[in-house]
Amino acid sequence: MEFLKNYRNAELIKSLLNQIRKITTRPWKLMEICGGQTHAIMQYGIDQLLPENIELIHGPGCPVCVTALELIDKALIIAQQPGVIFTSFGDMLRVPGSHHDLFSVRAQGGDVRVVYSPLDAVKIAQANPKKEVVFFAIGFETTAPAAAMSVLHAQKLGLINFTILPANVLVPPAMHTILGSPNNQIQAFLGAGHVCAVMGYWEYEPIAKQYGIPIVVTGFEPLDLVNGIFMAVKQLEIGNHLVENAYPRVVTRTGNRTAQAIMEKVFQPVDRKWRGIGIIPQSGLDLRTEYAQFDAENRFEIGLIDVMESSLCIAGQVLQGLTKPFDCPAFGNECTPQTPLGAPMVSSEGACAAYYRYMRAR
Ligand code: SF4
Repeated sequence: MEFLKNYRNAELIKSLLNQIRKITTRPWKLMEICGGQTHAIMQYGIDQLLPENIELIHGPGCPVCVTALELIDKALIIAQQPGVIFTSFGDMLRVPGSHHDLFSVRAQGGDVRVVYSPLDAVKIAQANPKKEVVFFAIGFETTAPAAAMSVLHAQKLGLINFTILPANVLVPPAMHTILGSPNNQIQAFLGAGHVCAVMGYWEYEPIAKQYGIPIVVTGFEPLDLVNGIFMAVKQLEIGNHLVENAYPRVVTRTGNRTAQAIMEKVFQPVDRKWRGIGIIPQSGLDLRTEYAQFDAENRFEIGLIDVMESSLCIAGQVLQGLTKPFDCPAFGNECTPQTPLGAPMVSSEGACAAYYRYMRAR
């Protein structure tokens, strides 16, 4: 806690905010990529402490929010099969599919379990050899190495009753999609510190160069965030477009090479649909052919399914930073954390949940 206090030091934060005020001469729009950053910004009121002409736009970095409805419906179909133990991170259980969610599958007698790591799902498979154990592999580059490791571990143990439903997605292709959109308003990115802890930030250098925008790798404590914003605004004011690291206590340029090698061994990049956004080329991770026997889609042969999004939910626009949660007519009315219409109101990293929890209104 003593260590954390340094990153919540009010005097240091005030001093940085003063420096931001001094150097800001024009309006700037910055996107924080990660939903964890959005929640910290709302929790500490950073959006309200910044000069009025600096706007923070919330990015698509909420893994639960961007998981395609088709994949959630497939997860629901698998979880309802007899003899299946379906495992998932907790946030996913309340995310609505077309008609229901994993909680309701559990309420109707399905064996749906929350795990904190994919390796826990492997342990469950070891302990239940007569059951099919499936892990819902959602998340960004932060969770992909552990999902890959679970496959390698299950293979080493000779388990034939363990599969994953691959749903991991990658950040750089989403950045390309946002910046390449004719509606783009983003002038700088705050990179997600935990993703960069795994991947480093070398992948962002060509993006900064191609689109001429600063990218600052940023952590999750208030001082990290304000410092990242300061570094990004400083670059914007002098017309720089570099990748900088405001989270050096955790992130290096090259990242965790061991984790990257494990991901590379097990997964290959594929085009993937992001909920509310559409297909982003080469933005997903699927199992390589050598590991196809660990793919739940193959094991359960689900095939094509029809999906039905809520007509009220504008999560796609929120996730691309095109609108704020309070601009959604359903926000706080039909859609609340107790009665979510879309994933951003469910997830602990969802922008709509952050606005609801920390009472942001227009
Ligand atoms: S408030 Fe609810 S309905 Fe509106 S965009 Fe957010 S999740 Fe969707």
